[in-house]
Amino acid sequence: MADIEQTDPAQWLDAHARANPHKPLLTLSDGQQISYAQLAWQSRRLAGAALAAGVKQGDRILAQIDKTPEAVALYLACLRIGAIFVPMNTAYTRAELEYFLSDTTPALAVVRPQMQAVVEAMAAACKVRQVATLDAEGGGSLMELAEAADTALPSPAVDRDTLATLLYTSGTTGRSKGAMITRGNLSSNARTLAEAWAFTGDDVLLHALPIFHVHGLYVAINTVLTAGASMVFLPRFEADEVLRWLPQCTVLMGVPTFYTRLLDHAGLDAQAARTVRLFISGSAPLLSQTHQAFRQRTGHAILERYGMSETLMNTSNPYRGPRIPGSVGPALPGIEVRITDPESGATLTTPDATGMIEVRGPNVFKGYWGMPERQASDFRDGFFITGDLGRIDADGYVHIVGREKDLIITGGYNVYPVEVEQAIDALPGVIESAVIGVPHPDFGEGVTAVVVRTAQCQLAAADMLAALAERLAKFKLPKTILFRDELPRNTMGKVQKNLLRAACRDLYQPAGSQVD
Ligand code: AMP
Repeated sequence: MADIEQTDPAQWLDAHARANPHKPLLTLSDGQQISYAQLAWQSRRLAGAALAAGVKQGDRILAQIDKTPEAVALYLACLRIGAIFVPMNTAYTRAELEYFLSDTTPALAVVRPQMQAVVEAMAAACKVRQVATLDAEGGGSLMELAEAADTALPSPAVDRDTLATLLYTSGTTGRSKGAMITRGNLSSNARTLAEAWAFTGDDVLLHALPIFHVHGLYVAINTVLTAGASMVFLPRFEADEVLRWLPQCTVLMGVPTFYTRLLDHAGLDAQAARTVRLFISGSAPLLSQTHQAFRQRTGHAILERYGMSETLMNTSNPYRGPRIPGSVGPALPGIEVRITDPESGATLTTPDATGMIEVRGPNVFKGYWGMPERQASDFRDGFFITGDLGRIDADGYVHIVGREKDLIITGGYNVYPVEVEQAIDALPGVIESAVIGVPHPDFGEGVTAVVVRTAQCQLAAADMLAALAERLAKFKLPKTILFRDELPRNTMGKVQKNLLRAACRDLYQPAGSQVD
């Protein structure tokens, strides 16, 4: 394909559909296959349906829909007509949806049939022009429109700076914001990843991620499309199903929970992973123990990478070269990553200096939808100030130490939660932990650990503290250790520290209890 930078994922789809029409793009869990040509046709019809519904270039199409081939086709249809695709988490409630609808004022909202009446009732107030349905079987009023649609589409006047999608951040702190991602962001990042991870047309990606998030939608699908590869497209992650399909796949993209659940399954071994050339993890930190246990069981070193809705992917451990557990690898080609002093903004060039991670490159978004006033505080010299804290070691590998908002300041000292979590996780019988700052009358914040133990674990809080005291400075030691059966996580496997902080809010207040 000539001049790939000028093209977009829908054009990649068309080019492969012309060159190799019958090649399967998607294999569904029941074995049904959808070829490149079929998906190209489907997305063309959906583009026609959107035009018939009055969608114009630059209009938003908001979609809160199930994971189906038609949903993928709808995303690609938006690229064909220059509409802005706004994918929504299917778990969002009516109130959340109302916020997103009024923030994006879509020309067309595509929802599951059970949400139709709810969204129609909000449509006028939220300035939604039209509501259509798409169900889990690929039916609904949108598909009826598509049946009758004209597939001769006008070419939109777009370039690499034209908005392609709004990706709403998970909003664990404050209101969710819509990251404005351009066509150039999508294309350049997919090309970079396909090259970095050595994707070819022979690859089959096992896709078990949701497709309303940057990981499952843009990292996975665009990388496959640019390489002309195929996907086994499962509705959700289930360890049994993933192990059933794995022998037909060459790559798995997952969040850390995929890997811990696979490790819990007796069927995971080198034989089960015999056809796979690459296991990738991202969206949340992969514990070193998980990395090591997976390597022992399968012989594979999971490749960890780092990105976010605002920037797509920034760094990756190498395909060829050392993959360091606990590190997200060096900056991807063409992308700059630097560390700055969170207070002064000065660039910190000394290896291993901890500070704010900032990112610049063709992957970085344009800013937040409807929030031009944030531009000055979110960017510095063209670098996006990510809100993640980290360090870059002497080999150029990036290590994330946590979100700035999770940084604990106790008695004037900075405590990076990851350092304490790693020390706790290394104790015998600990499965995992989350360390948070909780308001404290003397210290400002008290370091507080929430720990998940194995059923056999013998260690009580006092034993853990004694062991930690040998490894951590006194100010980093938890003032309280709480035990839980599991940590609260969102669908992308991220620990929801905001929920833990809310639950522990009164821990150090005079009437609060400190023992668990
Ligand atoms: P999202 O926009 O929902 O993809 O969330 C992006 C955030 O997830 C980043 O800013 C990081 O805080 C976190 N994240 C993504 N990948 C990793 C990783 N490999 N290790 C640690 N945190 C990660």
